[in-house]
Amino acid sequence: MTHLEPLGGGAHRIHFAGGASADHTLVIGADGAWSRVRGLLGGAVPDYTGVTFVEANLDDADRRHPHAAALTGHGMMMALHANRGLIAQRNSGGHLRVYIALRTELDWYETAGIDLADTERVRAALLAEFTEWSPSLRGLITDNDGPFVNRPIHALPVPHTWPHTPGLTLLGDAAHLMSPFSGMGANLAMLDGADLALAVAAHAHADAAQAGGPSAGRLDAAVRAYESVMLPRSVEAAAGAAEAIAAAIAPDAPVGLLAHFASRH
Ligand SMILES: Cc1cc2nc3c(=O)[nH]c(=O)nc-3n(C[C@H](O)[C@H](O)[C@H](O)COP(=O)(O)OP(=O)(O)OC[C@H]3O[C@@H](n4cnc5c(N)ncnc54)[C@H](O)[C@@H]3O)c2cc1C
Repeated sequence: MTHLEPLGGGAHRIHFAGGASADHTLVIGADGAWSRVRGLLGGAVPDYTGVTFVEANLDDADRRHPHAAALTGHGMMMALHANRGLIAQRNSGGHLRVYIALRTELDWYETAGIDLADTERVRAALLAEFTEWSPSLRGLITDNDGPFVNRPIHALPVPHTWPHTPGLTLLGDAAHLMSPFSGMGANLAMLDGADLALAVAAHAHADAAQAGGPSAGRLDAAVRAYESVMLPRSVEAAAGAAEAIAAAIAPDAPVGLLAHFASRH
């Protein structure tokens, strides 16, 4: 989709690259962090949190990287100190995903004259940030398979809401992009989708006999019902995620993060 055109009465025309278009009575923006649909719902733009994750990947870890696999265990391992972090997560198939977290400028690599495609240069720069860390943790930086991936962490303002607008709504990151420290972004996106589908199905039921699907009025009632559940839920999760990233990649880490966990559980 390149852009949306309001047609009045809650209808919108979706324009696609290549010139095609389609008219719909309900458009659901499930288009992620840089959502274009959000442009018609207040137009909030994500801010850089001040934290960048540089992603490393370790394949077949139990066999090829047994020390990293043991450090990570069956779930996730976080080592946090003085605005830095090493966060390792076990994925399926014996794969480990490691986030090398830095509180730094958005353009840190440009300032340092580093080409992100130059894996050895990126590795040297990252190791220089973790000189006093234990060799076993530094192994998460030295042992990766393949290139590093730079992932600056952005988040929408908290709270992010919008005035209800007939014919349009958002779900997932488009609605509530938050730092991964919530641990819930993908789960919330799926829950949003399920809640919206259930709300539409419940409201459409009353129009079951009507050819062409539920009326615009019933669709609007379904979207209102969905937003009344989704918005407060996502505001609470996003507030927690903002607190957690501020405490996790902080000068006194991990002290603030432990206090954050204690206050929420
Ligand atoms: C480093 C990192 C680690 C994370 N770790 C976790 C974790 O451990 N657990 C967890 O639950 N969450 C995690 N998340 C968050 C999770 O990835 C997101 O919350 C989740 O992917 C959001 O799903 P979504 O479908 O809303 O958006 P997305 O996954 O971004 O999907 C949006 C889709 O819309 C498409 N799109 C965008 N614009 C257009 C357009 N104009 N036209 C057509 N299509 C378009 C995109 O191509 C994409 O396919 C992490 C995020 C990051 C950055």
